[in-house]
Amino acid sequence: MPFKSSEQDVTIPTDLTIWDWLFDSSYSPLARDGPIAGYTNAITGERIDYAKVKEYTTYLSTALVKRYGLKQRETVALFSPNTIWYPVAMLGVLRAGGVMSGASPAYNIEEMTYALQTANAKFLITVPSSMDVAVAAARKAGIPKERIFLLEGDVDGHTTMKQLLDIGKSFGREDQVSSFKIPKGKQNKDVCGLLSFSSGTTGLPKAVMIAHLNVIAQSLQIQPITPSDHDKVLAVLPCFHITALNHALHLPVLLNAEVYMLAAFTMKDMLDVTVKYKIKELLIVPPILIRLVRDPIVDQYDLSHLRRFSTGAAPISEEIIQLLQKKFPQTKFKQGYGMTESCSCITAHPPSKYDYKYAHTVGTLIPSTEAKIIDLDGTELGINEPGEVLARGPQVVMGYLNNPKATAETFDRDGWLHTGDQGFIDEEGLLTITDRIKEMIKVKGIGVAPAELEDLLLGHPEVEDTAVLGLHDDYSGERPKAYVVPKPGVVGDEAFGKGLIQYVKERKTRHKWVTEIEFVEEIPKSASGKILRRVLKEKSKGASIGR
Ligand code: AMP
Repeated sequence: MPFKSSEQDVTIPTDLTIWDWLFDSSYSPLARDGPIAGYTNAITGERIDYAKVKEYTTYLSTALVKRYGLKQRETVALFSPNTIWYPVAMLGVLRAGGVMSGASPAYNIEEMTYALQTANAKFLITVPSSMDVAVAAARKAGIPKERIFLLEGDVDGHTTMKQLLDIGKSFGREDQVSSFKIPKGKQNKDVCGLLSFSSGTTGLPKAVMIAHLNVIAQSLQIQPITPSDHDKVLAVLPCFHITALNHALHLPVLLNAEVYMLAAFTMKDMLDVTVKYKIKELLIVPPILIRLVRDPIVDQYDLSHLRRFSTGAAPISEEIIQLLQKKFPQTKFKQGYGMTESCSCITAHPPSKYDYKYAHTVGTLIPSTEAKIIDLDGTELGINEPGEVLARGPQVVMGYLNNPKATAETFDRDGWLHTGDQGFIDEEGLLTITDRIKEMIKVKGIGVAPAELEDLLLGHPEVEDTAVLGLHDDYSGERPKAYVVPKPGVVGDEAFGKGLIQYVKERKTRHKWVTEIEFVEEIPKSASGKILRRVLKEKSKGASIGR
């Protein structure tokens, strides 16, 4: 029998789009009396309240459809750090019936080209600092320059958000496009709203199709286990990742909570604005928690107003949990666990379990969610028995875009998502994650696909074969290490190893950099050619070049 959430099931509307749900339904804060919260630039104080977001997204969708010919289901890529215009762009695209695909602002030209092509993007919205990469990648992906817009700032020859809003407004009230509706005969579970990238259990990063229903469900599932003091959210995690999108962008509208947007993480900025806005809950990944206990800058701040830490995305060590509790004794602690393929959370700590004594677990199943723990043969396991975690619920996404094989491997016919994580559920329903059995490496909470680095290294003229694995790292959680078989006649010496490290550095964003190389005679593989990663790890001599 599957494990079931002990929380009450939630009812999720099956006919609403994300935009209608947030701005034109009984769920909307605009349907209630009282002050309206909004998105604020945490540094400059510039603010757009949710009523304005509704107005701006109406203009934006009108401009995109009527002036630029955006068609329903066409994808718009959003290539930007967090800004208060991010939600305007995203929700404007959704209002127009488009699909929004977020991309990391750290991407280089190749990475961005891959993202645009994989998501089949037809438009691109970016910021001045990313314009060069955006233009080059768009050219390769066949997106004309006129379809590259600016979220903020000004770059010659590109239409700005302000201009788009003016264009939309110029159509007058009667001529604004109406908000996109779920087509007849379909439900919001069948209509993709967002594309987000994940490598899943194996292979290259894939575009994860997230339905309107998934996003609505995630917020409605989290709402009942959200404490009433959650009225301010610091958006420090990047909005291109589904967790920030749900927890720092959608859920706050539903709760009518204020959002303070921070474009780029620096410890100083985060601490400054945490104090300035008296943030009570910090939603951050484990490496930032580590900085909070180790970085002396923290001692310059009075953080006594902080009530709790909320974390996820990667494991956190017992040592850091203890140090946190000691340094911030007034705080409580909670975690969420999930993946892009579950539109963020599968489990989270409910308020009754906001306690450091549960911090080694990732919480209990959120409302309307089931889990199974299975062994290698697929046999269901019981309480306290570790195995692969499977999850089912309305937050489980549609699948991977244009990739039926990977979809079938990850989402089974009965609706179960195979997470590729190992864990067990105890008597109190708390899940503990014990291992990651899938290939994915997590560096500072960001997923890195070994296959992407292996593909790159295999393109090197002196590399015969390779496999990339994650090594434990005290700060980043993990860091990539490459096992390399040199081409015949090539010597696997230090100079070659350092050259390979440099080769990756020049071609990939920082979190993907290979930090160590170990030369081996062969990469162990199964009969079907699958890399036997565990065998490789066990056989490793540990003699490495790099660190
Ligand atoms: P992503 O799709 O980038 O959100 O990555 C999802 C993966 O991150 C999961 O499958 C886990 O391996 C890992 N993960 C997410 N949350 C946690 C957590 N609280 N503790 C440990 N690992 C986590």
